Amino acid sequence: MGMDTGNIADWLGKSIDCACGQRHEVPIRRVVIEHGALRAAADYVRERGWSDVALVADKRTLEAAGQRLETLLTEAGCSVARTVLPPDELGDVIADERSIVQAMLNLRDGTAAVLAVGSGTIHDVVRFVCSRTGKAFVSVPTAASVDGFSSVGAPLIIQGFKQSHSGLCARGDLCRSRRARQAPRELTAAGFGDMLGKATSLATGSSAPSYKRSITASCAPI
Ligand SMILES: [Zn+2]
Repeated sequence: MGMDTGNIADWLGKSIDCACGQRHEVPIRRVVIEHGALRAAADYVRERGWSDVALVADKRTLEAAGQRLETLLTEAGCSVARTVLPPDELGDVIADERSIVQAMLNLRDGTAAVLAVGSGTIHDVVRFVCSRTGKAFVSVPTAASVDGFSSVGAPLIIQGFKQSHSGLCARGDLCRSRRARQAPRELTAAGFGDMLGKATSLATGSSAPSYKRSITASCAPI
């Protein structure tokens, strides 16, 4: 049975005139959070008429969901080019130049979409690659390790430094809820921390003007 996603569907594909004075776009077309979401992802690819897609995962997420999704896609008659991002010297998969090039090497002229199967790092790589190549980006999270699966920002490690680059919002976000619950606990903890950090950042930002005034006042010459 699917998880109650509230009224997420009401927001999809819409643009919103926000109280902040800006118009915000929600380009995501479908969100599925349920046990059978991998099949829903394959169905979504077929519905869109994509016969040639790329799938990006790492060794762990390939085992957790990528292999199964690839089988479902192949059974549906879709050609799948798989990229398994290798870990760095410390054993971590990171969103750096090496991973970006690795993901791009498997793209073909006919590749219609790239499916990110994994956590935030894999999504950041795919989000950036899709934004620069014009391919559609489909999100298949395997852990609740970050709160930015639908973000447009792609934090990347370039020449050893973390930089934020503009990316692309996913067209579909299809999460296998049971698999996400079974993800390593440290990944879930990281996602919870991400949400807490966002709340405190927003609070700091909204109080910044008065904070700045108090600093200015205390620093004013007597
Ligand atoms: Zn706004």
